[in-house]
Amino acid sequence: MHTNKAVESKSPVQMFLDQNPINLFVGGQWVAASGNRSFATFDPGSGEKLTEVASATEEDVDAAVRAAKMAFHKSGWRTISPSERAVYLHRLADLVEEHRDELAEIESLDVGKPFSQARSDVDNFSKTMRYYADLSVHTQYHEPLAVSHHEARIVRQPYGVCGFIFPWNFPLLLAGWGISPALAAGNTVVIKPAEDTSLSTLYLMKLVRESGIPDGVVNVVTGPGESTGAALASHPDLAKLSFTGSPEVGRLVAESCGRNLVPVKLELGGKGAAIVFDDVEIEMTAAALSRAITLNTGQVCCTASRWIVHEKIYYQFVDAVLSQFKKIRIGYWDDPNTEMGPLVSARQRSRVLGYLEKGRNEGADILLEGGPAEVPGKKGGFYVKPALLAGRAGNIACREEIFGPVPFLLKFRDEEEAVGLVNSTRYGLANSVWTNDLQRANRVAVSMVAGNSWINAHNVFPHGVPYGGLNMSGMGGGVLGPNTLFDYLRHLSVVRPL
Ligand code: NAD
Repeated sequence: MHTNKAVESKSPVQMFLDQNPINLFVGGQWVAASGNRSFATFDPGSGEKLTEVASATEEDVDAAVRAAKMAFHKSGWRTISPSERAVYLHRLADLVEEHRDELAEIESLDVGKPFSQARSDVDNFSKTMRYYADLSVHTQYHEPLAVSHHEARIVRQPYGVCGFIFPWNFPLLLAGWGISPALAAGNTVVIKPAEDTSLSTLYLMKLVRESGIPDGVVNVVTGPGESTGAALASHPDLAKLSFTGSPEVGRLVAESCGRNLVPVKLELGGKGAAIVFDDVEIEMTAAALSRAITLNTGQVCCTASRWIVHEKIYYQFVDAVLSQFKKIRIGYWDDPNTEMGPLVSARQRSRVLGYLEKGRNEGADILLEGGPAEVPGKKGGFYVKPALLAGRAGNIACREEIFGPVPFLLKFRDEEEAVGLVNSTRYGLANSVWTNDLQRANRVAVSMVAGNSWINAHNVFPHGVPYGGLNMSGMGGGVLGPNTLFDYLRHLSVVRPL
């Protein structure tokens, strides 16, 4: 009696965490990792352990791929009509909306992001799911071809088992961007979330189960990248692998896929730029770029981390940024006043602080020191203050992705110089141009070599606009666009001579 009352008073999130360890989700069942292996996951806002998560071995990954393969061939997911599949996917989106606060709490606890931001990530997941569910209903799966003396058509069919490996910065949102088109196209999936932030993806599996999506259509294997991730990337039965993460790991994953001739999609890092011309409203632009670089504590692949500012307004712009950075409210996720949470881990904090040191050693001007931040009552959290650096484009802090609230300022004289600076990187994810001259804005937008150019804004992702990178920032088509659905449909030509 006493025990039951204790259970009743626990929140769904606490009950979920209390499973300790939280198991793998394979073939519609919660299963322990072989050998009962698990690892700890932490709250970056306090440094405290949240729970244990199962650590999948190669054997467990193989079981997940086999479950997904079986579901592809036997569950009917591949053969039911797109509109029937869409009903399941909308049901899942409904459930995500119903459990919005639990999912957001889990995301905040695991990543450290303020609750309101976590909630918008959850909403983004359901929007993505609905977008691809609807798109799949209106897609042509048989396309007649006009060729003489033949009856010919292209038939579009799902590939089979698609593997997904995700990073830790937007776990649920990126899972939505990845798996929604694959599922809507009729594939089955095996997901490997980042080891630091597996929890929201695991909680999502409770909802997948409730939605009635057949067993084995969605599977999750948790564990370290070097073992669990590598086992998934090198599995010969994958029909496709989509990886989101760093270029270094992307290269390893692509090599593994290459050996098996498994097609791969890569969404990788960036070192995005913002060109600020001298006709902008300075305070507003400084505020918008400060918001962009502090969003998710700077752990955003496409953020603008090189700010290229016209020399005429440079010093006014610096002052405006400094005043923005000094007033930012750093805090724990459950404080409604918090604007910026911690970095995701002690490792990530060392990386960011290390870049401040390396930048300084290479002669960067330190306009704002940054460094560790203290949040009352949360001594163990991985908080940092925003920093502001300036100097030469060759400085390491200007060349390499830091993944923290640390922009690097460069001065320019004319448009050509500014565009040259933007394009002086091997990354190619997203840049922005800020000016009141729309003709110039459009001209510069198409001269910047990357997957995405934004005008008078940064970090803009409407569903239906493709988002992806080139060079060191990715390959294989990107995400979020209407064509992303076709990335998960193979083409078959059917021909009959007449
Ligand atoms: P990461 O490359 O270290 O890890 C990403 C994922 O790969 C994790 O799940 C990890 O466990 C797994 N992994 C690690 N080693 C592996 C291996 N040998 N084989 C297979 N899998 C392995 O990246 P991260 O630190 O989690 O995330 C930050 C990076 O992700 C940044 O570079 C960021 O720019 C990038 N990112 C890109 C996008 C995009 O859309 N382009 C979005 C978010 C993040």
